[in-house]
Amino acid sequence: MAEHTPEDKAARAAILERGCSTPIKTATGVWVRCGSRIKSRCESCAELYRGDWAAIARSGVFDGPVDQYRFYLLTLTAPSFGRVHRVPREGGQQGRCGCGVTHTTKDAALRGMPLNRATYDYAGQVAWNRDAGVLWDRTRRRLRDRWESVEYFIVREWQDRGVLHVHAIVRIARGEAPAAIELRDAARTAVAVSKVDGSVVEWGAQAQCDAFRANGDGAKTIWYISKALNYVLKDVATDADDVPVAVWRHQVALGDAARRMRCGVDCVPQDCSSLVHQRYGSRSQVVSASRRTKYRSGWSFTGLTRTVQRRLRREWWESQQAEAGADTSAVSPAPLEDLAARSRRELVARGWAAP
Ligand SMILES: [Zn+2]
Ligand SMILES: [Zn+2]
Ligand SMILES: [Zn+2]
Repeated sequence: MAEHTPEDKAARAAILERGCSTPIKTATGVWVRCGSRIKSRCESCAELYRGDWAAIARSGVFDGPVDQYRFYLLTLTAPSFGRVHRVPREGGQQGRCGCGVTHTTKDAALRGMPLNRATYDYAGQVAWNRDAGVLWDRTRRRLRDRWESVEYFIVREWQDRGVLHVHAIVRIARGEAPAAIELRDAARTAVAVSKVDGSVVEWGAQAQCDAFRANGDGAKTIWYISKALNYVLKDVATDADDVPVAVWRHQVALGDAARRMRCGVDCVPQDCSSLVHQRYGSRSQVVSASRRTKYRSGWSFTGLTRTVQRRLRREWWESQQAEAGADTSAVSPAPLEDLAARSRRELVARGWAAP
C-alpha cells in the first residue's frame, strides 16, 4: 500500500495514533481503521466493536420505560455430538467424568474434549454451527408468535468443545410476560430445517432462563453479556504454542470436518473459499439485536445501531477535521475511543459490582 504525500502519511499516522494497528486506505484515498473484530489482529478495533455492541445491549435495558417490561437472560446450547470430558471451573462442582476420573481445574485443557474421537460426530457439529443462525431465526419467530412484544439482543459464544451456544437478553411487555421457564421451553423446543442438507436442526437439552429487572440485575446481566462479547472476539483456534495435544487433535478434526462440509446448497467444498470452512462452520455474525421497524421499537429503545454509531463517529471525525484544517496530525487521539470508554464508565456509574 503506497503512501504518496506527506498529508497521506499524516492521516495514516493519525489513525495509528488512535490505536488501530493496521489502518487501510480506501479507494477514495481516505485512511480508515482496519475494523477487525479479532483481538489478536487489532486490539483497538476489536475493543471498539465490543464497546459499540455493549452500548447497544445497554440501551435496550436502561434507556426506556423499563418498568413496563420484563427482562430475561436466556441461554441455549447445542445438542451433544459425543461424550466429552467434564472438568469443573474455578469454584465449580466436581463430579466423576465419563472417562472415570474426577477432574480438577488442573485438567482445564481437557474440558469439552471428546472421550472418544473415533465415534465423535465432527461432521454433525460443524453442520450445526453452520445452521445455528437458521435455528435462531425459527426460535425468535416462535417467541414472537407467542409474545408479540419480544425484542432481543443475542451473542453467540464458543463452548470448549468448539460449538456455538447462544446468550440472549429478551424483553417482553409486562402485560403478556410469561414465567421464565415457559419462555425457556418455548425457545428450547424450536426446530429448524437445514437449508443446505434438509436435516433437522435442534437445540440441546441444556437451556436456562432467568428473569431480571433492569434496576435489579440489569447491570450484572450487561456485564455478563459483555464478557461473552469478549470471548467471541478471540480467534476460533487458539494460537498459543503450547496447545495440549488433545485440544490440538480436536481442533484439527473439527477443521477437517468444516472443510469437507457444504456451506451452501451449491458449495463444492474443495473449490469453496468461504470463511465458513475455516470457522468450524460458523458464519461471521456473532452479535445481533432485533431491528426497529414501523411497528416495533427494536431492541434499543433509542434506536442505537452499529450504523448510527459509525455515523456519529464519522461526523465527529469530520467536525474535528474541519476544525483542525488540513493538519490531521493535530487531532487529539482520545475522543474516537470515547464510545467504548463511556460505556465502561456508565457501567461503573450504574453501581455494578462483580458477582
Ligand atoms: Zn484496527
Ligand atoms: Zn474425563
Ligand atoms: Zn463452501
